[in-house]
Amino acid sequence: MAKILIVDDSVVSRKKLRSTLEAANHEIIGEACDGAEAFEKYEALQPDLVTLDITMPNVDGITVLKKIRENYPEARVVMITALGKGNKILEALNAGAKNYITKPYEDEQIINSVQEALE
Ligand SMILES: [Mg+2]
Repeated sequence: MAKILIVDDSVVSRKKLRSTLEAANHEIIGEACDGAEAFEKYEALQPDLVTLDITMPNVDGITVLKKIRENYPEARVVMITALGKGNKILEALNAGAKNYITKPYEDEQIINSVQEALE
């Protein structure tokens, strides 16, 4: 079981992630809807893992990934992105993301990606 912060600008996506991860016995300790809020909540909550949407208003997922990893080099982050964003995925992995999944995804994929990132 891990303490997880969910970051996504879509309330529907956050709800779905929450229910999927809770069903896999993880604890959702917070949610954020953009990169700025994500960094604040990361600092305040110190989660074991973050699920991070790439496309968000204000501060996007790649920008906040870099900021989190600069300040917390041990941070575990799983990126979530729409199909066809291969260059963004590469950038995220180079910036230290542990894993990524592409939307639309099966519940099992997110559970497995999170598990792998925690190991
Ligand atoms: Mg989004």
